Amino acid sequence: MKKQMKKLPFFLPFGGCRGRCVYCSQSTITGAADLISPELVSSVLMDLDEPREVCFFGGSFCRFGFSKVKEYLDSVVKYAPEGSRIRFSTYPGDLSNKSMRDLINTYPIACIELGIPSLDPDVLSLCKREADPEAILNDIKNIMHDSLPLGVQMMIGLPGQTKESSLADLKKLAEIKGPISWDLRLYPCLVLEGTELEKMMNSGSYHPINLEQAVKWGGIFIDRAVSLGFNPIRIGLQESELLASKVRGGPHHAALGEMIASESLVRKLTRNSMTGPWIVPDEHISKFTGHGCFGLQRLAELNGTTVNAVSEKLSFFPRAENIV
Ligand code: SF4
Repeated sequence: MKKQMKKLPFFLPFGGCRGRCVYCSQSTITGAADLISPELVSSVLMDLDEPREVCFFGGSFCRFGFSKVKEYLDSVVKYAPEGSRIRFSTYPGDLSNKSMRDLINTYPIACIELGIPSLDPDVLSLCKREADPEAILNDIKNIMHDSLPLGVQMMIGLPGQTKESSLADLKKLAEIKGPISWDLRLYPCLVLEGTELEKMMNSGSYHPINLEQAVKWGGIFIDRAVSLGFNPIRIGLQESELLASKVRGGPHHAALGEMIASESLVRKLTRNSMTGPWIVPDEHISKFTGHGCFGLQRLAELNGTTVNAVSEKLSFFPRAENIV
Protein backbone atom coordinates (compact mmCIF):
# COMPACT_ATOMS: atom_id res chain seq x y z
CA MET A 1 0.00 0.00 0.00
CA LYS A 2 1.27 3.46 -0.89
CA LYS A 3 2.65 5.16 2.22
CA GLN A 4 0.84 8.41 2.96
CA MET A 5 3.00 11.40 3.81
CA LYS A 6 2.17 12.75 7.28
CA LYS A 7 0.06 15.88 7.22
CA LEU A 8 0.98 19.00 9.17
CA PRO A 9 -2.01 21.35 9.36
CA PHE A 10 -1.82 25.10 9.93
CA PHE A 11 -5.16 26.73 10.64
CA LEU A 12 -5.85 30.20 9.30
CA PRO A 13 -9.28 30.93 10.83
CA PHE A 14 -11.42 32.87 8.32
CA GLY A 15 -8.22 33.76 6.46
CA GLY A 16 -9.26 35.45 3.22
CA CYS A 17 -13.01 34.94 3.82
CA ARG A 18 -15.10 37.88 2.61
CA GLY A 19 -18.25 36.92 4.46
CA ARG A 20 -19.43 34.30 6.92
CA CYS A 21 -21.19 31.17 5.75
CA VAL A 22 -24.11 30.69 8.13
CA TYR A 23 -22.83 27.43 9.62
CA CYS A 24 -19.19 28.41 10.06
CA SER A 25 -17.32 29.03 13.29
CA GLN A 26 -13.65 28.49 12.58
CA SER A 27 -12.57 29.21 16.16
CA THR A 28 -14.76 26.29 17.30
CA ILE A 29 -13.83 23.96 14.44
CA THR A 30 -10.08 24.53 14.50
CA GLY A 31 -9.53 25.71 18.07
CA ALA A 32 -7.35 28.48 16.60
CA ALA A 33 -8.22 32.10 17.37
CA ASP A 34 -5.56 33.95 15.37
CA LEU A 35 -3.99 33.77 11.95
CA ILE A 36 -0.58 32.16 11.96
CA SER A 37 1.90 34.25 9.97
CA PRO A 38 4.15 32.93 7.17
CA GLU A 39 7.13 33.67 9.46
CA LEU A 40 5.69 31.46 12.20
CA VAL A 41 4.94 28.72 9.65
CA SER A 42 8.59 28.92 8.51
CA SER A 43 9.88 28.61 12.06
CA VAL A 44 7.85 25.42 12.59
CA LEU A 45 8.85 23.91 9.25
CA MET A 46 12.58 24.44 9.71
CA ASP A 47 12.53 22.11 12.75
CA LEU A 48 11.05 19.15 10.82
CA ASP A 49 13.22 16.14 10.11
CA GLU A 50 11.14 14.47 7.41
CA PRO A 51 8.95 15.67 4.50
CA ARG A 52 5.37 16.54 5.33
CA GLU A 53 2.21 17.44 3.51
CA VAL A 54 1.90 20.99 4.80
CA CYS A 55 -1.77 21.99 4.97
CA PHE A 56 -3.38 25.42 5.17
CA PHE A 57 -6.96 25.07 6.35
CA GLY A 58 -9.67 27.15 7.98
CA GLY A 59 -10.27 29.88 5.43
CA SER A 60 -10.23 30.74 1.73
CA PHE A 61 -6.52 30.44 1.14
CA CYS A 62 -6.27 32.05 -2.29
CA ARG A 63 -8.32 35.05 -1.17
CA PHE A 64 -5.33 36.25 0.82
CA GLY A 65 -4.16 37.65 -2.51
CA PHE A 66 -1.14 36.97 -4.64
CA SER A 67 1.67 38.19 -2.39
CA LYS A 68 0.41 36.65 0.88
CA VAL A 69 -0.31 33.32 -0.80
CA LYS A 70 3.21 33.42 -2.22
CA GLU A 71 4.66 34.09 1.25
CA TYR A 72 2.91 31.04 2.73
CA LEU A 73 3.89 28.79 -0.18
CA ASP A 74 7.47 30.05 -0.19
CA SER A 75 7.73 29.20 3.50
CA VAL A 76 7.13 25.55 2.58
CA VAL A 77 9.61 25.29 -0.30
CA LYS A 78 12.28 27.21 1.60
CA TYR A 79 11.98 25.68 5.05
CA ALA A 80 10.19 22.30 4.96
CA PRO A 81 12.34 19.20 4.27
CA GLU A 82 12.81 18.41 0.60
CA GLY A 83 9.96 16.34 -0.80
CA SER A 84 7.32 18.14 1.27
CA ARG A 85 4.11 19.00 -0.49
CA ILE A 86 1.28 21.47 -0.01
CA ARG A 87 -2.45 21.13 0.52
CA PHE A 88 -4.90 23.96 1.10
CA SER A 89 -8.62 24.68 1.11
CA THR A 90 -10.14 27.55 -0.81
CA TYR A 91 -13.31 28.92 -2.39
CA PRO A 92 -13.67 27.52 -5.93
CA GLY A 93 -13.79 30.97 -7.55
CA ASP A 94 -10.50 31.96 -5.94
CA LEU A 95 -8.68 30.16 -8.73
CA SER A 96 -10.64 31.74 -11.57
CA ASN A 97 -7.70 34.12 -11.93
CA LYS A 98 -5.18 32.60 -14.33
CA SER A 99 -2.20 34.35 -12.76
CA MET A 100 -3.13 32.83 -9.38
CA ARG A 101 -3.30 29.36 -10.97
CA ASP A 102 0.07 29.93 -12.66
CA LEU A 103 1.57 30.94 -9.32
CA ILE A 104 0.15 27.90 -7.53
CA ASN A 105 1.37 25.62 -10.30
CA THR A 106 4.99 26.49 -9.56
CA TYR A 107 4.77 24.81 -6.12
CA PRO A 108 4.62 21.11 -5.18
CA ILE A 109 0.86 20.88 -4.70
CA ALA A 110 -0.55 17.65 -3.25
CA CYS A 111 -4.17 18.80 -3.37
CA ILE A 112 -6.36 21.88 -3.58
CA GLU A 113 -9.51 21.21 -1.57
CA LEU A 114 -12.40 23.23 -2.98
CA GLY A 115 -15.19 24.15 -0.58
CA ILE A 116 -18.31 23.04 -2.44
CA PRO A 117 -20.89 22.35 0.27
CA SER A 118 -23.59 22.31 -2.39
CA LEU A 119 -24.19 23.19 -6.03
CA ASP A 120 -27.85 24.02 -5.46
CA PRO A 121 -28.30 27.81 -5.86
CA ASP A 122 -31.06 27.96 -3.22
CA VAL A 123 -28.93 26.11 -0.69
CA LEU A 124 -25.92 28.30 -1.42
CA SER A 125 -28.01 31.42 -1.02
CA LEU A 126 -29.51 30.25 2.30
CA CYS A 127 -25.97 29.49 3.49
CA LYS A 128 -24.79 32.97 2.41
CA ARG A 129 -22.19 31.48 0.09
CA GLU A 130 -21.39 33.96 -2.67
CA ALA A 131 -21.12 31.31 -5.33
CA ASP A 132 -22.82 30.66 -8.62
CA PRO A 133 -22.97 26.91 -9.39
CA GLU A 134 -22.28 27.41 -13.10
CA ALA A 135 -19.28 29.58 -12.29
CA ILE A 136 -18.03 26.95 -9.85
CA LEU A 137 -18.18 24.24 -12.50
CA ASN A 138 -16.40 26.49 -15.02
CA ASP A 139 -13.73 27.34 -12.49
CA ILE A 140 -13.15 23.66 -11.82
CA LYS A 141 -12.70 23.01 -15.54
CA ASN A 142 -10.09 25.77 -15.71
CA ILE A 143 -8.24 24.41 -12.70
CA MET A 144 -8.25 20.93 -14.22
CA HIS A 145 -7.03 22.36 -17.52
CA ASP A 146 -3.97 23.60 -15.64
CA SER A 147 -3.44 20.09 -14.20
CA LEU A 148 -3.76 21.15 -10.56
CA PRO A 149 -4.75 18.23 -8.27
CA LEU A 150 -8.18 18.69 -6.73
CA GLY A 151 -10.33 17.51 -3.87
CA VAL A 152 -13.72 18.68 -2.60
CA GLN A 153 -15.23 19.51 0.77
CA MET A 154 -18.97 18.87 0.71
CA MET A 155 -21.78 18.99 3.27
CA ILE A 156 -25.13 17.39 4.01
CA GLY A 157 -28.02 18.63 6.12
CA LEU A 158 -27.70 22.27 5.04
CA PRO A 159 -30.67 24.69 4.97
CA GLY A 160 -32.85 23.87 1.96
CA GLN A 161 -30.72 20.85 1.03
CA THR A 162 -32.15 17.41 0.30
CA LYS A 163 -30.52 14.03 -0.10
CA GLU A 164 -31.45 14.13 -3.79
CA SER A 165 -29.85 17.54 -4.35
CA SER A 166 -26.64 16.45 -2.64
CA LEU A 167 -26.45 13.31 -4.81
CA ALA A 168 -27.10 15.44 -7.91
CA ASP A 169 -24.16 17.65 -6.84
CA LEU A 170 -21.94 14.59 -6.58
CA LYS A 171 -22.98 13.48 -10.05
CA LYS A 172 -22.15 16.87 -11.58
CA LEU A 173 -18.74 16.88 -9.95
CA ALA A 174 -18.09 13.28 -11.02
CA GLU A 175 -18.92 14.18 -14.63
CA ILE A 176 -16.35 16.96 -14.54
CA LYS A 177 -13.59 15.01 -12.81
CA GLY A 178 -13.90 12.00 -15.11
CA PRO A 179 -11.76 8.97 -14.16
CA ILE A 180 -9.41 10.96 -11.88
CA SER A 181 -9.72 10.23 -8.14
CA TRP A 182 -10.53 13.26 -6.00
CA ASP A 183 -10.15 13.43 -2.24
CA LEU A 184 -13.47 14.05 -0.52
CA ARG A 185 -14.29 15.44 2.90
CA LEU A 186 -17.91 15.22 3.95
CA TYR A 187 -19.24 17.34 6.78
CA PRO A 188 -22.76 16.73 8.08
CA CYS A 189 -23.97 20.19 9.13
CA LEU A 190 -23.78 21.00 12.84
CA VAL A 191 -25.30 24.07 14.47
CA LEU A 192 -22.48 25.82 16.31
CA GLU A 193 -22.83 28.46 19.00
CA GLY A 194 -22.74 32.03 17.76
CA THR A 195 -23.44 31.26 14.10
CA GLU A 196 -26.20 32.61 11.90
CA LEU A 197 -27.42 29.04 11.66
CA GLU A 198 -28.04 28.98 15.41
CA LYS A 199 -30.33 32.01 14.99
CA MET A 200 -32.08 30.31 12.07
CA MET A 201 -32.62 27.18 14.15
CA ASN A 202 -33.91 29.17 17.13
CA SER A 203 -36.32 31.12 14.91
CA GLY A 204 -37.63 27.89 13.39
CA SER A 205 -36.44 28.64 9.84
CA TYR A 206 -33.88 25.81 9.93
CA HIS A 207 -34.37 22.30 11.25
CA PRO A 208 -31.10 20.38 11.62
CA ILE A 209 -30.98 16.71 10.68
CA ASN A 210 -30.61 14.26 13.55
CA LEU A 211 -27.98 11.56 14.03
CA GLU A 212 -29.98 8.78 12.39
CA GLN A 213 -30.77 10.93 9.34
CA ALA A 214 -27.12 11.97 9.03
CA VAL A 215 -25.88 8.38 9.17
CA LYS A 216 -28.32 7.16 6.53
CA TRP A 217 -27.91 10.18 4.23
CA GLY A 218 -24.13 10.17 4.73
CA GLY A 219 -23.93 6.40 4.12
CA ILE A 220 -25.76 6.68 0.83
CA PHE A 221 -23.68 9.73 -0.14
CA ILE A 222 -20.32 8.05 0.60
CA ASP A 223 -21.35 4.80 -1.09
CA ARG A 224 -22.27 6.78 -4.22
CA ALA A 225 -19.12 8.92 -3.99
CA VAL A 226 -16.81 5.90 -3.81
CA SER A 227 -18.51 4.28 -6.78
CA LEU A 228 -18.02 7.56 -8.71
CA GLY A 229 -14.29 7.60 -7.98
CA PHE A 230 -14.03 9.92 -4.97
CA ASN A 231 -11.66 9.05 -2.14
CA PRO A 232 -13.21 9.88 1.25
CA ILE A 233 -10.43 11.12 3.52
CA ARG A 234 -12.59 12.59 6.28
CA ILE A 235 -16.21 12.31 7.37
CA GLY A 236 -17.40 14.73 10.05
CA LEU A 237 -15.55 17.41 11.97
CA GLN A 238 -12.60 16.51 14.16
CA GLU A 239 -14.08 15.80 17.59
CA SER A 240 -12.78 17.89 20.49
CA GLU A 241 -13.95 19.05 23.91
CA LEU A 242 -14.32 22.55 22.48
CA LEU A 243 -16.50 21.34 19.61
CA ALA A 244 -18.64 19.25 21.97
CA SER A 245 -19.19 22.30 24.20
CA LYS A 246 -20.27 24.52 21.30
CA VAL A 247 -22.68 22.28 19.39
CA ARG A 248 -26.27 23.59 19.70
CA GLY A 249 -27.97 21.27 17.23
CA GLY A 250 -27.50 18.70 14.52
CA PRO A 251 -25.97 15.21 14.33
CA HIS A 252 -23.15 15.54 16.82
CA HIS A 253 -21.51 12.23 17.80
CA ALA A 254 -17.85 11.42 18.41
CA ALA A 255 -18.13 8.39 16.11
CA LEU A 256 -20.29 9.97 13.39
CA GLY A 257 -17.64 9.44 10.70
CA GLU A 258 -17.19 5.75 11.56
CA MET A 259 -20.95 5.20 11.64
CA ILE A 260 -21.38 6.77 8.21
CA ALA A 261 -18.49 4.67 6.87
CA SER A 262 -20.21 1.54 8.31
CA GLU A 263 -23.53 2.50 6.76
CA SER A 264 -21.82 3.09 3.42
CA LEU A 265 -20.12 -0.33 3.49
CA VAL A 266 -23.28 -2.14 4.54
CA ARG A 267 -25.22 -0.48 1.73
CA LYS A 268 -22.57 -1.53 -0.75
CA LEU A 269 -22.73 -5.14 0.47
CA THR A 270 -26.51 -5.33 0.31
CA ARG A 271 -26.52 -3.66 -3.08
CA ASN A 272 -24.24 -6.40 -4.38
CA SER A 273 -26.10 -9.20 -2.61
CA MET A 274 -29.12 -8.61 -0.36
CA THR A 275 -28.91 -12.04 1.27
CA GLY A 276 -25.15 -12.67 1.38
CA PRO A 277 -22.82 -14.38 2.01
CA TRP A 278 -20.49 -11.40 2.22
CA ILE A 279 -16.68 -11.56 2.21
CA VAL A 280 -14.92 -8.36 3.27
CA PRO A 281 -11.25 -7.31 3.79
CA ASP A 282 -10.38 -7.62 7.48
CA GLU A 283 -9.43 -3.93 7.69
CA HIS A 284 -13.20 -3.34 7.85
CA ILE A 285 -13.94 -5.55 10.89
CA SER A 286 -14.42 -2.55 13.18
CA LYS A 287 -17.06 -1.15 10.83
CA PHE A 288 -19.23 -4.11 11.88
CA THR A 289 -18.19 -4.59 15.49
CA GLY A 290 -17.60 -0.99 16.62
CA HIS A 291 -20.12 1.27 18.37
CA GLY A 292 -22.35 -1.48 19.75
CA CYS A 293 -22.00 -3.60 16.57
CA PHE A 294 -23.59 -0.76 14.61
CA GLY A 295 -22.61 -2.19 11.20
CA LEU A 296 -23.91 -5.68 12.06
CA GLN A 297 -27.17 -4.22 13.28
CA ARG A 298 -27.63 -2.16 10.12
CA LEU A 299 -26.77 -5.19 7.97
CA ALA A 300 -29.43 -7.17 9.88
CA GLU A 301 -32.00 -4.36 9.47
CA LEU A 302 -31.42 -4.00 5.75
CA ASN A 303 -31.42 -7.78 5.40
CA GLY A 304 -34.63 -8.12 7.43
CA THR A 305 -33.11 -10.64 9.81
CA THR A 306 -31.09 -10.88 13.03
CA VAL A 307 -27.54 -9.92 13.98
CA ASN A 308 -26.71 -13.60 14.58
CA ALA A 309 -28.02 -14.58 11.16
CA VAL A 310 -25.99 -11.95 9.27
CA SER A 311 -22.89 -12.67 11.39
CA GLU A 312 -22.91 -16.25 10.10
CA LYS A 313 -22.93 -15.01 6.52
CA LEU A 314 -20.14 -12.48 6.99
CA SER A 315 -16.46 -13.45 6.74
CA PHE A 316 -13.21 -11.53 6.49
CA PHE A 317 -10.00 -12.10 4.58
CA PRO A 318 -6.56 -10.55 5.04
CA ARG A 319 -5.36 -8.33 2.22
CA ALA A 320 -2.10 -9.47 0.57
CA GLU A 321 -0.16 -6.49 1.94
CA ASN A 322 -1.21 -7.45 5.48
CA ILE A 323 0.21 -10.97 5.16
CA VAL A 324 3.80 -11.11 6.47
S1 SF4 B 1 -17.03 27.97 5.39
FE1 SF4 B 1 -15.07 28.54 4.47
S2 SF4 B 1 -15.54 30.30 3.18
FE2 SF4 B 1 -17.28 30.07 4.61
S3 SF4 B 1 -16.78 31.41 6.35
FE3 SF4 B 1 -16.03 29.36 6.83
S4 SF4 B 1 -13.88 29.34 6.20
FE4 SF4 B 1 -14.87 31.10 5.19
